[in-house]
Amino acid sequence: MKKLTIIGGGPAGYAAALYSSNFDLEVTLIESDTLGGTCLNRGCIPAKYWLHVAELNHEIDTSNEYGIEIKEKKINWAETAKKRFDTVNKLVGGIGILLKSKKVQVVEGWGSVKDSNTVIVKKSDGSEVELESDFILIATGSKPRSIPNIEVDEKFIITSDTALNWEEPPKKVCVVGAGAIGCEFASLLNDLGSEVTVVELDNEILPGLDKRTSSELRKQLSKRGIQFKLGTSINSINNKTVEFSDKESQDFDTVLIAVGRAPLTENIGLEKAGVVVNKGYVEVNLDTYQTAKDNIFAIGDIVYGTPQLAHVAFAEAISAITFIATGEKKPINYSAIPFVVYTRPELAEVGINAEKAKEQNITIKQSQHSFAGVGRALIQNQNQGVVRVYAEEAGSIIGASVCGPAAGEMIHELMYMVGWEALPSEASEFIHAHPTLSESIGESLLSLSGKGLH
Ligand SMILES: Cc1cc2nc3c(=O)[nH]c(=O)nc-3n(C[C@H](O)[C@H](O)[C@H](O)COP(=O)(O)OP(=O)(O)OC[C@H]3O[C@@H](n4cnc5c(N)ncnc54)[C@H](O)[C@@H]3O)c2cc1C
Repeated sequence: MKKLTIIGGGPAGYAAALYSSNFDLEVTLIESDTLGGTCLNRGCIPAKYWLHVAELNHEIDTSNEYGIEIKEKKINWAETAKKRFDTVNKLVGGIGILLKSKKVQVVEGWGSVKDSNTVIVKKSDGSEVELESDFILIATGSKPRSIPNIEVDEKFIITSDTALNWEEPPKKVCVVGAGAIGCEFASLLNDLGSEVTVVELDNEILPGLDKRTSSELRKQLSKRGIQFKLGTSINSINNKTVEFSDKESQDFDTVLIAVGRAPLTENIGLEKAGVVVNKGYVEVNLDTYQTAKDNIFAIGDIVYGTPQLAHVAFAEAISAITFIATGEKKPINYSAIPFVVYTRPELAEVGINAEKAKEQNITIKQSQHSFAGVGRALIQNQNQGVVRVYAEEAGSIIGASVCGPAAGEMIHELMYMVGWEALPSEASEFIHAHPTLSESIGESLLSLSGKGLH
């Protein structure tokens, strides 16, 4: 039986270990911290937990619009935080049980590559062990990026690593960076009653996503009271005072730095082992996930040029393990990966948007359908937002951008259309149930195929 050693037990590493059980592989997984990685412990799960609490709070605060009067609302923050940890612990525990059931040997410690067949594990008690294997898979993930001259103390100037552990949300917060993580924090903190200012260097929130859709989300967030300072950066932070590049100063309780994530590829022996590292990321062959060394593989957030998302990490794990175990290449369709921002309302995209089409010289046709007249959205009081679908001028559907209720669920229908290169005329033949939010997709498709209904 061939041996595989995996370094890192986040979504990339643990998914690779679990999927290996479909094949004849003996797997050892090394993790220096907690199984589940960023996603389960400091990322996707705790962030979505707090977003859910925030949405619940908003629903309660607005229930009187439906004639439901709540006389006294009390939040027991200790209970709220406890449930966050219980939820994460359940998931982390579940990963441990799954790995055990699939006979993966989990080793605690810091893994580094000694040579193409040897990994050294440094344990927390200072002892070291050497593991020999046929293949090595690196999945060490990422950490929050910092800003030059601004020192993160994880007390006043914090990152997502500690923000999601708070017992009670801060009252007045400056969020630096309006990417997905920054926008999600802004949305949830606002719904929990914090005063929020978001600073972004770009001239629109969510750089890289469809500009019109992002701007619609920003307008909705602004209406809720979130302040945006676009085209602005931070000059300095002194005590509690933040000075912005436009020279304005404001005092805050907390500054949350959310300017992206840097790959964790230091001190793991990569260069010495002959693995090529580019701007901190590992260069791989995207058909096989092989690095410059044929039997050393890399997947997840450390890979150069692919999106840093948990579901991408899962997909890369499946593809890499299939190649390691069978030699079969199973490349991922990176052009049909859903991207979701879990704000209220959500924003979700797949494939090409208007700006990307222009950059790539693709002539597109597009349709859009607003949620304004969608019955289900109106019932839920969430009828602001839009579905946009993009197709090649005389060809298939190549992208979509949605801002609205449950956009993160609805995007999957559009993902299949993009992935399977459906023609608008084909896709528009399918019938959507009424009354649903997804009807807005059906309406967009009818318009895109030249015969709109409502
Ligand atoms: C606030 C926040 C919200 C997010 N929300 C979403 C979301 O909604 N959807 C989504 O798809 N993605 C989201 N992400 C991104 C997602 O968390 C990452 O893309 C995903 O965790 C990447 O998986 P990974 O396994 O590559 O890395 P990681 O999850 O970072 O795991 C790497 C693991 O390797 C371990 N490790 C590192 N070095 C070593 C070593 N030398 N030896 C042993 N172990 C080591 C680390 O301790 C860690 O456990 C979010 C991230 C953040 C911060």
